[in-house]
Amino acid sequence: MMTIRHNWCSECKETCLNHATLCTICGSTLEAPPAAVVSDLARRNQDSAARRRTNDPPGSLFSFTMQDLVQEATQNQRRDLGDLRELLENIRQEIRATGVAQQDLLEEMRSVREEWQAVPAELWDPSIGSGSSSRPTSVEYLERIPRTVVSRKSSILRQGCLSCSSKAIAGCPLPPPMEVIPGEFGMTEACALEHGTLILPEFNRTGKGGLTLATKTLIANATKPVIVYMERGDGVTFCQKAITAQDAGASAVVIGNNVTEPWPYVMKDSKGEAVGDKVSIPIVMVKLADGQALVSFFRQRNNTTVECAKWNLRMEPQNQNCVICTESFSISEVLLRLPACGHHFHESCAMQWLTSHNTCPYCRRELPTDDAAYEQERRRTERTHASSDSAAGRSSQYQDFYG
Ligand SMILES: [Zn+2]
Ligand SMILES: [Zn+2]
Ligand SMILES: [Zn+2]
Ligand SMILES: [Zn+2]
Repeated sequence: MMTIRHNWCSECKETCLNHATLCTICGSTLEAPPAAVVSDLARRNQDSAARRRTNDPPGSLFSFTMQDLVQEATQNQRRDLGDLRELLENIRQEIRATGVAQQDLLEEMRSVREEWQAVPAELWDPSIGSGSSSRPTSVEYLERIPRTVVSRKSSILRQGCLSCSSKAIAGCPLPPPMEVIPGEFGMTEACALEHGTLILPEFNRTGKGGLTLATKTLIANATKPVIVYMERGDGVTFCQKAITAQDAGASAVVIGNNVTEPWPYVMKDSKGEAVGDKVSIPIVMVKLADGQALVSFFRQRNNTTVECAKWNLRMEPQNQNCVICTESFSISEVLLRLPACGHHFHESCAMQWLTSHNTCPYCRRELPTDDAAYEQERRRTERTHASSDSAAGRSSQYQDFYG
């Protein structure tokens, strides 16, 4: 007997397989499919079961139908990868054992895959993908990757945007709204700072040596909330930059990244300088290109330190999913963040994958292995392509960019 799943979108007039409750196309709430659709599906299932029966050799090893398998795994809310692997292995064994009805089985295998699109293709079929993906990631490397516990301050549960609503001037277009990555210290609640003033520190934008008297005066005399822009690096920690801006009277600080990768980059109080709520303003980061766009916008307006209203900074909660299990990250779960690309996964989901693959499950970036011969060959290839972006990014994965 077939169980009726709530997977029908009445707007799109289609079954929507990729999401549990909402249509991924139009966002409508999914419901039970209309009777006509259900009976049509049942008829097609009967047809395919009948086809399979006629194709079955005498004494077939078929002890269950594919529908049963798919249904069983589909109803399993957790969508456990181990189950999925087992399911696929069962299908493969069926194909090998019977040698018939392959067309049907392959078709059904495809439909199972479609249903779990977020699952990396290699999981379904180890022959997919490059050979490098089948090596286990270096055990030492996996041990060194810091684990994080999701909390209310976690950057992964928050998102933000910096936008400019000043009057546009001919020949000097406004910078487009920018994604900001909230830091994990300072003010981490949702906030909306409207029509503020963005100020670039005079001379040294990294905050080294503090702010000049002119910049401090500018901040002190501003009639609107001030957002100070500073650049990452120069031996000044994120926390020190935030305190410098806060002490001068700023309401928020935007840090421009000084490298392109990894992105998104999560700013933490790595030296414990913010303990005891020493930082009470929000600190957010924009990517390198956006920071450069801000600076050139100010240059074009010929006033690097003079206020340039009106700027809006928003921070709000967001949901993010682990691409391996498709569940959203929630408070107190343990995550693993790959240092090279910055992608987050549940630790348990990631470890299951990384103990047999040396690639990021999301972006496929290669990770180090314990296979000495393979690593030697890889370093040789990397030197050959030393000028390429990916090699430059990869060599930086052990570096610490804090401060
Ligand atoms: Zn729809
Ligand atoms: Zn749909
Ligand atoms: Zn997960
Ligand atoms: Zn990645």
